[in-house]
Amino acid sequence: MSFKDVIGQDAAVRILQDELATGRVNHAYLFLGKEGVGKKTLAFQFTKSLNCQESRLDSCEGCLACRKINHANHPDVKLLTIEDGNTIKIEQIRELQRDLAYKPYESSRKVYIIDRADRMTPEAANSLLKTLEDPPEYAVIILLAEELNKLLPTVISRCQQIHLNTLTREEIKERLLESGIEEEQANLISRLADGSLGRALELSEDAEFMDTRSSILELLISLPEINTIELFNQVDRLVSLIEKGFPLFDLILSWYRDIIIYNQGNCEQLVNYDYLERMKSQQDIYTIEDLVAIITLINNTKGYIDLNVKKDLALQVMLFKIRAKRCK
Ligand SMILES: [Zn+2]
Repeated sequence: MSFKDVIGQDAAVRILQDELATGRVNHAYLFLGKEGVGKKTLAFQFTKSLNCQESRLDSCEGCLACRKINHANHPDVKLLTIEDGNTIKIEQIRELQRDLAYKPYESSRKVYIIDRADRMTPEAANSLLKTLEDPPEYAVIILLAEELNKLLPTVISRCQQIHLNTLTREEIKERLLESGIEEEQANLISRLADGSLGRALELSEDAEFMDTRSSILELLISLPEINTIELFNQVDRLVSLIEKGFPLFDLILSWYRDIIIYNQGNCEQLVNYDYLERMKSQQDIYTIEDLVAIITLINNTKGYIDLNVKKDLALQVMLFKIRAKRCK
């Protein structure tokens, strides 16, 4: 792994390598970008380059520092992330502060990567702010976040912002083909991955992905006719898919979006382009207003589940409401 392997983030890489070259490394960074675009990969690559004993602008991968970071056992590099599935708590920040009080053991810097920094509780963020305001000379703190508006402005203003791009479908497809994924699957996954290479690679590792996806699309196609008992039966299966990390909502959203796009004759943009014929049959079932309402409904359901509303209940309500839309 080197900066060359960070896909599609040339601008961000250039900024960080310039800083490495001139020695003007900041104490605090904020890497911003959607889930899976490579924030953590870039943060670790930067961290290795800061600590590498052989190379100043990149990582050599062979020295003790590079190897320890790759094995997550470098004493001067720490990763913080959400606990209990939800937030970064003040105790985690206090632990960071206690650790930061000691000088580096092996390197000239201590690096802390805070993943999902936009999930810090207000207490955690306020506590971190004190460290950001007066960091020791050797500290580098890298916050990773998807959304700027979920962070305290005072925290943002203390960090150098590095923006990561959403990848194009072509960039993702190319990478999938390189890793040996077949053309048809690479094509489809690159469309579903929504700009996230991380997600694309995850999907490509799921051997049942194509079959699961077909079964979900078949369910959506048959939804207007499905009886209530069958619908209840399907909910359990959908819940277990969400729990396994399957991008259920993204797939369902892509389907209804596709029907709108198909209606507008813009077939290049379709995600499920291999289901063209079936889309045609759905055109007569929903009006555009229905489809827009369905998309809002799916987004809301996803939001409720993120807020810990019971998954089976939320999905039942969603599917019943979509079924009720078969109005034409
Ligand atoms: Zn090295």
